[in-house]
Amino acid sequence: MPEKFDAIVVGAGVAGLAAAYKLAKAGLSVVVIERGDYPGAKNVMGGVLYRAMLEELIPEFWKEAPLQRPVVEQRFWLMDEDSVVTTGYKGQSWAEEPYNCFTVFRGQFDQWFARKCTEAGALIINETTVESCIVENGKVVGIRTTRPDGDLYANVVVLADGVNSLLAKELGFHKEWQPQQVALAVMEVLKLPAQVIEERFNLESGMGTTIEIFGSGTLGMVGTSFIYTNKEHISVGVGALLSQMRERQIRPYDLLENLKNHPMVRPLVRKSEPVEYYAHLIPEGGYNAIPKMVGDGVVVVGDAAQLVNSIHREGSNLAMTSGKLAAEAILRAYEIGEFNERALSHYQEKLWDSFVISDLKKYKDTAELFENRPQYFNQYIPAANMALREMLTVDGTSKSDKQKLVAQKFLGGRSMYSMAKDIYRAWKAVK
Ligand SMILES: Cc1cc2nc3c(=O)[nH]c(=O)nc-3n(C[C@H](O)[C@H](O)[C@H](O)COP(=O)(O)OP(=O)(O)OC[C@H]3O[C@@H](n4cnc5c(N)ncnc54)[C@H](O)[C@@H]3O)c2cc1C
Repeated sequence: MPEKFDAIVVGAGVAGLAAAYKLAKAGLSVVVIERGDYPGAKNVMGGVLYRAMLEELIPEFWKEAPLQRPVVEQRFWLMDEDSVVTTGYKGQSWAEEPYNCFTVFRGQFDQWFARKCTEAGALIINETTVESCIVENGKVVGIRTTRPDGDLYANVVVLADGVNSLLAKELGFHKEWQPQQVALAVMEVLKLPAQVIEERFNLESGMGTTIEIFGSGTLGMVGTSFIYTNKEHISVGVGALLSQMRERQIRPYDLLENLKNHPMVRPLVRKSEPVEYYAHLIPEGGYNAIPKMVGDGVVVVGDAAQLVNSIHREGSNLAMTSGKLAAEAILRAYEIGEFNERALSHYQEKLWDSFVISDLKKYKDTAELFENRPQYFNQYIPAANMALREMLTVDGTSKSDKQKLVAQKFLGGRSMYSMAKDIYRAWKAVK
């Protein structure tokens, strides 16, 4: 007899585990298939994990989950070649329960989350790759794995296989992602004593900070860099659109070295010891790239469905919410006894009513805007740095003369009208 479950989840990332947890808790027989040696082995994140979405599944999870530091401050840097304009927010409420977000190591966190799924009754099978979905009469009825006799069957298959999402592609749900629809990100985990981290980042014991960097960290390409504090490590990373990395023939490792050697970053990473290096793709297509997400007997969640809000560096929370909503739709499908596309499209309806699609829709034009107008990164950010440098350097030049220089730098040889159009376009894209 072929092995049959109520639901199969492909991929033990946060999206798949959220779906599996909810389904197993409701009493369904669930199997999660993960190609890595263990959940999280292949998963990369900066990584800021937001509290609210996981708490809907596991109340007060922070009391037991392997977290690094609660984030009490978020800083934003507009970085030029040798300077930076800074802003940010630090708040005492973020240092107290229930917290806003935490830094995590996905290798540790995903293993803990998978254990919670196992405790809830799900079966996790590691070191097994799903090669394809088994389709009968146009309906997904199971999966084919790399194991001998490794076919498994279920009424519903949840595709949570991450950004590459070969399985959804094979089903015809989307085409190959275009290089402008994904960013290539590289990051390093650097070891430093906790006390040194707290002194360098001006933190109370055990508290954490994040720095998002726009500008010269990506050498003018569309993307961001980041520095996050963990207990005894800092995570430093940079990502830019794959299309622009290819065009400029920049090697990801060189981009990261360039960031670490930047005069504003160097003092923060000084005398640290590199312990891990990762490279991974991030979906960047946003709302306009969301593929077909529901078919007969199948739903797609998380990165596999391009659910990343890159403007706010949110991915794991969208992934968990989509996993949870997919599970709710599957539970409803069990109530009505139907697993076709119409029954499962309840998932899509719930997702469209949630913050996930609302946020992605809000920023739907930003990807194209920034890709086609490099001046936002390579002209206005240096101009902002120059403006503050000029206005704050006291050298006997009148402020009016300095203001003229600053205006010229912002315009960069273009007309006032072009700049006004850029401001209007940016406002329209984020309003
Ligand atoms: C450098 C970087 C920094 C980031 N920083 C943040 C951040 O700070 N905060 C945030 O919220 N988000 C961040 N993100 C985004 C976030 O990591 C993702 O949005 C999130 O991990 C998506 O979860 P997922 O479960 O959909 O996919 P993943 O976590 O990628 O999980 C997919 C799983 O499927 C498995 N799999 C794939 N194919 C198969 C197969 N055929 N058979 C079996 N298993 C398979 C993989 O091994 C993997 O375990 C970052 C991403 C990167 C790359």
